[in-house]
Amino acid sequence: YQGRRPLIAGNWKMNLTHLEAIGLVQKVAFGLKEPELEAAEVVVVPPFTAIRSVQTLVQGDKIEIGFGGQDLSVADSGAYTGEISGAQLKALACTYVVVGHSERRALHAETDEVVAAKVRKAIEHELVPILCVGEGLDVRKAGEHVPYTTAQLDAALEGLDAATVAGVVVAYEPVWAIGTGEVATPEDAQEVCGAIRARLAERFGPETADVVRILYGGSVKAGNTAGILAGPDVDGALVGGASLDADEFVSICRTAA
Ligand code: PEP
Repeated sequence: YQGRRPLIAGNWKMNLTHLEAIGLVQKVAFGLKEPELEAAEVVVVPPFTAIRSVQTLVQGDKIEIGFGGQDLSVADSGAYTGEISGAQLKALACTYVVVGHSERRALHAETDEVVAAKVRKAIEHELVPILCVGEGLDVRKAGEHVPYTTAQLDAALEGLDAATVAGVVVAYEPVWAIGTGEVATPEDAQEVCGAIRARLAERFGPETADVVRILYGGSVKAGNTAGILAGPDVDGALVGGASLDADEFVSICRTAA
């Protein structure tokens, strides 16, 4: 991680009721020791319906686990049925918000422009965007994964200054590895995370690139975490399926600590 504090974020997607969410956070908190929670930053990203319950639990019991939303609207308020604003997430004490997840890009037709607007909205509402980028299988097979991913990065950060970019988290999530059980090799993960950092250095300067945390996501499990995190430019993981199992998630967090 080269001086950066590792970050493990559990993206629960559309899973768990608010009651189940409380149970899972309690188990994760119980499984991790204080020094581990200091060494690694642990974050959960529940569905919107569970954020209030997670907030109440975490704040009430002074649990050192952060939380955030899975998406936010490009608008602030008004006639946007079903949408959730950055202000609403901030009011629930969210620290993070996932932006541009490949499932949003694919299932909700989020373009690079929409993703860029959401990054800006997150920053405007003082939420840390976890900006997801990553190629599909066709791009990977064509050997275009680095230029494809760095182009997504460029588009999402267009027009931002270096100080702002320093506060963004980037998640490299190759689409072919998400929920498929097919994890990228540690070399694949490092190759693209390294290229992302190099691109950040080119555009925003080496000091900025040096502090941005870059996560890998895609079928991360307890058994493959150490290898993935060994890459010098891999600063943590965005974990989907495995974050729903308390023991598995605790084990991933412990490996990062
Ligand atoms: C994700 O969707 O962010 C993800 C990485 O999912 P999984 O770990 O299930 O592949």
